Amino acid sequence: MQIPIDRTTSPRLDHEAVLAGKLTNVPSDHMVVAEYAHGEWRKARVQPYRPIPLAPFSIVLHYAQTVFEGMKAYRGVDDVLRVFRWQKHHARLQKSMHRMCMPEMPEELFKSAIHELVAVDHGWVPRGPDSAYYLRPFVFASEEHVGLKPAEQFTFIVLGAPFRPLFKSRMSIKVEREYVRASPGGTGFAKCGGNYAAAMLPTKMAKDAGYDQVLWTDAHTHTHVEESGATNIAFVVKGALVTPPLSDTILDGVTRDSVITLARELGIEVQERPLSIDEITHGIHDGSVTEAFGIGTAASVAAIGKIGIDGVDYELPVVAESVAGRLRDSLNAIRFGQVADPYGWMTTVDPL
Ligand SMILES: *Cc1c(COP(=O)(O)O)cnc(C)c1O
Repeated sequence: MQIPIDRTTSPRLDHEAVLAGKLTNVPSDHMVVAEYAHGEWRKARVQPYRPIPLAPFSIVLHYAQTVFEGMKAYRGVDDVLRVFRWQKHHARLQKSMHRMCMPEMPEELFKSAIHELVAVDHGWVPRGPDSAYYLRPFVFASEEHVGLKPAEQFTFIVLGAPFRPLFKSRMSIKVEREYVRASPGGTGFAKCGGNYAAAMLPTKMAKDAGYDQVLWTDAHTHTHVEESGATNIAFVVKGALVTPPLSDTILDGVTRDSVITLARELGIEVQERPLSIDEITHGIHDGSVTEAFGIGTAASVAAIGKIGIDGVDYELPVVAESVAGRLRDSLNAIRFGQVADPYGWMTTVDPL
C-alpha cells in the first residue's frame, strides 16, 4: 500500500545536527494521519507535522479512549535504515485497541504508515549506539459527542522524533506499596492513555523522594514485583534472568520478549516466574541477587543501582561483564546491522 505524500515546504531538518546527536527529542518534519469512519480506515496521508483540529467534545478528551505504541528505527553501521519488530508492535496495538473498544487496525495500513514515515523523514534518523528514531503510532476517539459512549470515529497518527534515552547512569527505583498501576481484569496489559495518567502522581512522589522511578507491585498484596515505570523489569538471581510472567497486569514488552530470546541464545537461564520483594531483600543481603534492570524501547536495557524498600535503600553491586550489558550489546548488534538478524526482527527502509 502506497500512502500519498504532501511534503512540507518549510523543513526544519538539520541532517548534520541529527547525525551528531545535537538535534534530538523534537518532532521530525512529517507525520502520517488516517481516519476511521463508517466502518473503514481512509484518507491516509503523509503530511507536514502540525497541530490537528479536535472538537472540544471529542470523546478522547473526556473518557481517554486512546492507545499508543512506542517503537524505533535505527541507522545501521552500514547506513541502512531498519525498523525493529513492527509486526509485534502491530499485534500489541491491536490488543490495546480491542480492550479500549476500538476497531481493527489493518496490518497493511500500520506497516505502510511506519515505513513511509521513516522513508520520508530518513534524514531525521540519528546514528547509534544510544540514539534512534522514535516512532509513536497512536489512535484516539476523535468523534464529537455529548455523553459517554464508545466512539465510531477515530484518528490514527504516526509521529517520529530523533531520540536519546533518558537514563544514562544506573537508575534508582522505589518499591510502591500503596498505589497500583494495574489490577486483574483491568487495562494494565494495554498501552492506553489512562494507565499513564494514573501513574503520574505516584511517580512524582517517588521522584520527590529522590528516586528515578516506581517499582510497581501486585494490586492485592503489594508483595510481588510487576513493572518499573513504563518498562518491564528483570533481576539476575543466582546467575539466572528472572522476570515476572505476563498477565493482564503486565505489559507484553517487545524489548522483554527480545531480551528473553537473546538471553537463551547467550546461554543465560531465563525464569518467568513471580518474584517477591522479600526474595529481593534477602537476595541482595546474601549476594544471590546481583543485578536489576528495566527493559523497554525507550531505555533499552537500563541498569538499576538502588532499590528503596519501605524506607531502606538497597544498593546493587557494580558487576563487570553484567548480564544487562551483554543483553544490551547483543540487542544493539542486531538493531544496528552489525550481525545477522536470525529472528527476522528488522525490516529495511529505502529513503523516499
Ligand atoms: C511500553 C511499555 C513497556 C515496554 O514495552 P516495549 O515494547 O519493550 O517498549 C513496559 N511496560 C509498560 C507499562 C509500557 O507502557
